[in-house]
This record gives sequence, structure tokens and C-alpha cells, in this order.
Amino acid sequence: MYDILVIGAGPAGASAALIAAKSGKKTLLLDSNQSITKKAWIENHYGVREITGPALVELGQEQAKKFGAELVQTKVENIEKASEGLRVDTENGSFEARHVILATGLFTDLAEKIGVQTKSGTEPRVKTIVDVDALGKTSVEGIWAAGGIAGKSLHTIIVAGDGANVAINIISELNGERYVDHDVLK
Ligand SMILES: Cc1cc2nc3c(=O)[nH]c(=O)nc-3n(C[C@H](O)[C@H](O)[C@H](O)COP(=O)(O)OP(=O)(O)OC[C@H]3O[C@@H](n4cnc5c(N)ncnc54)[C@H](O)[C@@H]3O)c2cc1C
Repeated sequence: MYDILVIGAGPAGASAALIAAKSGKKTLLLDSNQSITKKAWIENHYGVREITGPALVELGQEQAKKFGAELVQTKVENIEKASEGLRVDTENGSFEARHVILATGLFTDLAEKIGVQTKSGTEPRVKTIVDVDALGKTSVEGIWAAGGIAGKSLHTIIVAGDGANVAINIISELNGERYVDHDVLK
């Protein structure tokens, strides 16, 4: 049983997985390798002079793995309630988790299939998004959403920040108190 399972390893999902794994939560990151970030050339990500999209995605995934997140390349086909938590069915088997984060970018097929509440997007060229509350919770207990799929402005720094924010909200709920992750310069 994973504490936090993240679907989508673009900037939103990998950032969420990085924070979750670094906090000590058992974290799984599932990805179908269709990130739109891989088409980008990026010069507006704070703290990074310039980087290719593929390099940013690879670096983010490596950072998440460094802290213990497991990354599996597969497509998620369904999510169902399990006796405890949620069961996530993929092309390559099933996984169970207490919390699931949808970070599927512009892909809404999974969200629509599992019946989380959706609504019209407001960002350019984004038709449908998952309806989330201020914490990132969807209409289904245990399922959260972050980044492009949650209607955030399609910029790597914004979706990565949102993924981190949603992960911190889940960790805080699991711990029963607000979570903060500060390393201090030695
Ligand atoms: C051509 C182009 C140029 C851009 N230039 C810039 C720029 O200069 N600066 C900037 O800030 N932003 C830029 N962007 C936007 C930026 O790339 C997006 O804001 C950002 O990628 C969205 O991140 P995300 O994590 O929400 O989605 P994505 O990066 O798309 O990641 C979603 C992930 O979910 C996975 N997924 C989807 N469905 C499933 C499923 N069922 N099972 C498993 N995995 C699934 C996909 O494979 C994908 O890896 C650009 C975008 C494009 C297309």
C-alpha cells in the first residue's frame, strides 16, 4: 500500500512525488511518457537560466527517485475504491494507495472515466479540467489533482509549484499537522 500515488510524471506530478517521497511517505509515480513539457524550450522557470523540456522532465523525475519515489512507465486505465484506500489499475497490473494525485496535464480521459467532477477550462486551448477545492481535492474521496489537469496556468514553474502544494496538503492530512520541509545551510 502506497501512501501517495501520483499519476503523471511531468513537472506537476514529479514535483508532487519529490515532496511526498522526501517527507518519508511511500510514493509511487506512474507515467505514460506523453508529457507536453517534452515539446518545450524553457527560459521563464525561476532559478533556471534555460533548459529543454525533456531535460527538465528527466531532472524532476531523477530528483523524485533520489528521495525514494518509485517510477513506473505505464498507462493508468482505471481507479476504483478498495477495501482500504484506492486501487489503481494499469496496463501492467494494479497498485493500492491511500491517496492518489491526478497530474495528467491535458489528458482528461482517465478523470472522465473514473467520474471525478470536471468543468470547462479557462486557460487558452484547455477545454476541460478537474474541479478541485483550494487544497487540490476532487469530488472523490482520496483523489486529488494538480497542475494542468487542475486548471492551473500552463507554465512549468506554476504547475510544479501546484504539485508541491497538493503533496504538502496530503502529507499534512496524513500527519495531522501542517507539514514544512526546510533544509538549513550548514
Ligand atoms: C510547445 C510548448 C512550449 C512550451 N513552452 C513553455 C515555456 O517556455 N515555459 C513554460 O513555463 N511552459 C511552457 N510550456 C507549458 C508547460 O510545458 C506546461 O505547463 C506543463 O508541461 C504542464 O505540466 P503538467 O505536469 O501539468 O503536464 P505534462 O507535462 O503534460 O505531464 C502530464 C503527464 O501525465 C501523463 N499521463 C497522462 N495520462 C496518463 C495516464 N492515464 N496514465 C499515466 N500517465 C498519464 C503523461 O504521459 C505526461 O507525462 C510549453 C508547452 C508546449 C506544448
